[in-house]
Amino acid sequence: MPNKKYCTVQKVISDSKKSHFTTPLLPVQSFSDEERFCMNVLDALNSNIALINYDGLILKVNKAWRVFGSNNGAIGNSTLEGTNYFDTCKSSSTDFNYSGLRALKGIKDVINGITEEFYQEYMCNSPFEERWFYMKVKKIEGTPNVLLIEHNNISDRKITQKKLNETTDVLVQTVTHHNEVLDSSLDLICTVNENGNFVHINSASAKILGYEPKELIGVNFLDLVYVEDNERARKGFKEIKRGLNVIFFENRNYHKNGSIVHLFWSAKWDNKNKIVNCIARNQTYKKNLEKEILTEKQRFNALYLQAPCCMGILKGPNHVFEMANPLYLKLIAKENIIGLSVKEVLPEFEAQGIFCILDHVYRTGITYSANEKLIKFDFNGDGNLVDNYLNFIYQAHRNCEGEIDGILFFAIDVTEQVLSRTRVEQSEKKYRQIVETAQEGIWMIDENNKTTFVNSKMAEILEYSPQEMIGKEIFFFMDAHGKSKAVELLKKKKENYFTQFIFKFISKSGNEIWNNISSNPLFNEDNSYKGALGMVTDITERRKNEMIVKQQNVELVKAHSELDRFVYSVSHDLRSPLTSMLGLLSFIEEESQEEDTLQHVKMIHTSINRLDEFIKNILNYSRNNRIQLLIEKISVDGTIASIVDSLRNIPKAHGIDFSVESNQTIPFYTDAMRLNTILENLISNAIKHHKVEGFDRFIKIKTQFENNKLQITIADNGVGIESEFHEKIFEMFYRVSGDTDGTGIGLYIVKDAVEKIQGTIEIQSEKGKGTIFIIILNNLKL
Ligand code: ADP
Repeated sequence: MPNKKYCTVQKVISDSKKSHFTTPLLPVQSFSDEERFCMNVLDALNSNIALINYDGLILKVNKAWRVFGSNNGAIGNSTLEGTNYFDTCKSSSTDFNYSGLRALKGIKDVINGITEEFYQEYMCNSPFEERWFYMKVKKIEGTPNVLLIEHNNISDRKITQKKLNETTDVLVQTVTHHNEVLDSSLDLICTVNENGNFVHINSASAKILGYEPKELIGVNFLDLVYVEDNERARKGFKEIKRGLNVIFFENRNYHKNGSIVHLFWSAKWDNKNKIVNCIARNQTYKKNLEKEILTEKQRFNALYLQAPCCMGILKGPNHVFEMANPLYLKLIAKENIIGLSVKEVLPEFEAQGIFCILDHVYRTGITYSANEKLIKFDFNGDGNLVDNYLNFIYQAHRNCEGEIDGILFFAIDVTEQVLSRTRVEQSEKKYRQIVETAQEGIWMIDENNKTTFVNSKMAEILEYSPQEMIGKEIFFFMDAHGKSKAVELLKKKKENYFTQFIFKFISKSGNEIWNNISSNPLFNEDNSYKGALGMVTDITERRKNEMIVKQQNVELVKAHSELDRFVYSVSHDLRSPLTSMLGLLSFIEEESQEEDTLQHVKMIHTSINRLDEFIKNILNYSRNNRIQLLIEKISVDGTIASIVDSLRNIPKAHGIDFSVESNQTIPFYTDAMRLNTILENLISNAIKHHKVEGFDRFIKIKTQFENNKLQITIADNGVGIESEFHEKIFEMFYRVSGDTDGTGIGLYIVKDAVEKIQGTIEIQSEKGKGTIFIIILNNLKL
């Protein structure tokens, strides 16, 4: 520091002495006691005091002024009484220090009444230390033309102030730095007062909450807390104020844009300043990430649990189940497999080479996949292996470092598909066999009538090979007439028709082949016509035979009617001579007395009667066949009564009790002639085959009308028929025994006649007990 800069006052005082000291204005000895007292008081003061007049003459200095001068190297009386202080002020100013001139101006201002008092602080360094003084100038009350100049050392204060300023600078710097640090923090750093209002908040608030710090100062922090977390935050704040150090509590806050911000707080109560210091970390990203991870996890879990395929993870070289979804457990029919190795869970895999595959994937990382691989499971652990077909993948599972630490597996059970495909293939094979071995020709044509398929039989029918027929139009195998008929039939092809018709094809060798064809049109999925399928039966041979049969039938019918006419005329013609013979025999019986002759005549009589009955039966049979039904309303009761009346008088009927229980309730229509034949035969049989002896012999005839049907029962207690003959007696000429008269044709005719008038006949009979015939006839006119 240059010398010129310090000791200005010292110089002022010493310089002033030079010019004025020799002629003091107020000699000491002239002071009054009071003045002396004042001077003593002045001397007792620590301040350096001088009294000057308005011209600058130093009138009086105190002891401190004098000591200060000598201590600072003042020469002689240079700043003492008698010197001019104005001159000292002027001369003390330097290029660097204008305090002397300022002092002079200040003194003048006070003298001139511009200011009441002048005060300035100035620096006056000694060679050893920095020093500061203040200078005060003011008038002395009641003493005109005198000014009081006071200099005082204020170095201590100045140094302290300087230090204070320096400290303040450092402090300001520190605070600025601190604020910069706070503002550069990504975390929200704030203080809130005991009411919860923000006192300070760093600029992270803008990023985290969307508010500039100044927007939040004075705002209550609870206003930002999400409504559901508000109560908890309020309680927490109370706890903090009670001195509890709270770290890492979490709450949700409103961002200025309305979104939710997750903050993690640490807070501490400053009891001295009654504030809470808080730091909050934005966890929104983390929370969202956690949420996303959770969602992903849930999605994965859902996928894993509901995946339509079996999946899981095997860990380590021993392939220990770490995960296995429910579908996989279902597939292998096992539970609680986690922690167990594949070897423990599925030992049956060893023989199937699965372990080798797993080891290879684990060792090399090369993915293994298989389709429809046959895997045998020992579901019950009893060695009974069940076939399953699987599509599966074994894929290496790697850890964070990329090293293989397990195997991921995915499997789909395709057993059902494989089996059903096999079944389809088998059934297709079967179908092909059927088609090929069918005795019917199968012919398929497309929409252009071209042959797309024929089986071997079809080709055989037309004397071609299947290959020769494929691709040929169906018309190729027809003559002109057949073609026009086929065109007609094919016109209907778009209607969903099924037709059956007889059709003639021309074979390779030119033969006419007659066929019975069942044809179906075929349609695409869009309902458009795509051709037809025909099932073809070769009826050429059958047709030939049918023609023959037809011809034979015509001939047969002719022969039959001729025979019928012949039988009728023969029977009819035969009866006349018999009647004549009976007449002649009655002459002989009347005229002859000879025993033998009469005996012989009787025998001839019996034979003629039998022959007559036989001829009558033949006539009945002939009539039954020849004559058309004549349906008329008949009296069933009357018919039965007249037959019974005509038969009860024949010799064999003597002693038999006839009873008829008949009460016709509805009009009954049938063929009278045939009903007569039926009843006559049955009743005459009951008489003919009755027991020869006995008292209770009966024939009971009963009718019943029910549901438009007539039931007639003819019951006798005659000889009866063994069950083995029940069927046979209805055959032509069948007789159970030759004992009785008869021809064996009666029941045959009965059955024939019953069927003709739509009826049924049934027999119930036991040998020795009797016989019941039950006839049920339809009422033929409804
Ligand atoms: P036939 O002229 O012998 O009576 P049928 O055809 O009428 O011929 O009867 C066949 C046989 O059935 C008879 O020979 C007889 O043996 C037996 N038959 C028929 N009706 C009776 C009956 N009511 N009781 C016992 N036997 C009977």
